[in-house]
Amino acid sequence: MLKYKNFAFLLVLGLLMSCGKQDGNQTAREDIAQRQINVVATTGMIGDAVRNVGGERVAVISLMGPGVDPHLYKASEGDVSRMSRADMIFYNGLHLEGKMAEIFEKMQQRIQTVAVTDRIERTRLDSPPAFAGNYDPHVWFDVTLWMEAVRHIAESLAEFDPSHAGIYQTNAARYLSSLDSLHAYVRDEINRIPENRRVLITAHDAFHYFGRAYGMEVRGLQGISTASETGTADVQELARFIVQRQIPAIFVETSVPPRYIEALQAAVKSRGFDVKIGGSLFSDAMGNPGTPEGVYLGMVRHNVDTIVGALAGK
Ligand SMILES: [Zn+2]
Repeated sequence: MLKYKNFAFLLVLGLLMSCGKQDGNQTAREDIAQRQINVVATTGMIGDAVRNVGGERVAVISLMGPGVDPHLYKASEGDVSRMSRADMIFYNGLHLEGKMAEIFEKMQQRIQTVAVTDRIERTRLDSPPAFAGNYDPHVWFDVTLWMEAVRHIAESLAEFDPSHAGIYQTNAARYLSSLDSLHAYVRDEINRIPENRRVLITAHDAFHYFGRAYGMEVRGLQGISTASETGTADVQELARFIVQRQIPAIFVETSVPPRYIEALQAAVKSRGFDVKIGGSLFSDAMGNPGTPEGVYLGMVRHNVDTIVGALAGK
């Protein structure tokens, strides 16, 4: 009898506890379903993707504005408090945000933290020798790789806020179709450059995936991360290459000081050849909010138009 009573008590207690837990989850879920999801994204590109997929369901803050270099970025106190108040944090991963790994680890214990590159198949990523055993993080320059990141964002939002999963699915499908058109645009435009001139020289090695996807040879003055310094030997070697191949233009990047590319231009001139600066590319940060380059689609178009304008020639 006593045994039976204990069993009944445990059963009731168990039921109560599981009810309580379910109620708790349900309250949290209803709470999210009835208000906007507060999202903190690191780069502008990620923030833009979350906005496109989340629509009115999300309020997004991007920590890194125009001209900001994510490799060197250190979170401010304000950033940390913004992150700790967020429902979800989206970051690039693959060590792009080189100085923020510890913060993400800490946040992960309490807040839904998503590396948008996590579900890209590793066979599609490159690990250049210069980046010491790590993968190249600049995935947004192969539009098809970025589409994988967008799919991951959509799945993460749907998991977090399942009652609006349909909205995320619909928005993602629409955005992915614009990205599909963008991919075709980039391919067609780059094909207008004469084959021997399809060489892209920039301040740092951000455009490797771009070159691989769209058929351009890519050379960066600095390595994959801007944390490495450029040596004079690198400048001279690249200058020699430019003269040898008679490359008409090289490019500055908005998130890297122009002095590196200017030094390269001077080194080329001292070898008796003129290479022009073909314009400014958005590499690791987008343009000002409210301008066409302030969103990913416009940023990529700007880059492609600038590259083609300078290299296609007459
Ligand atoms: Zn970079």
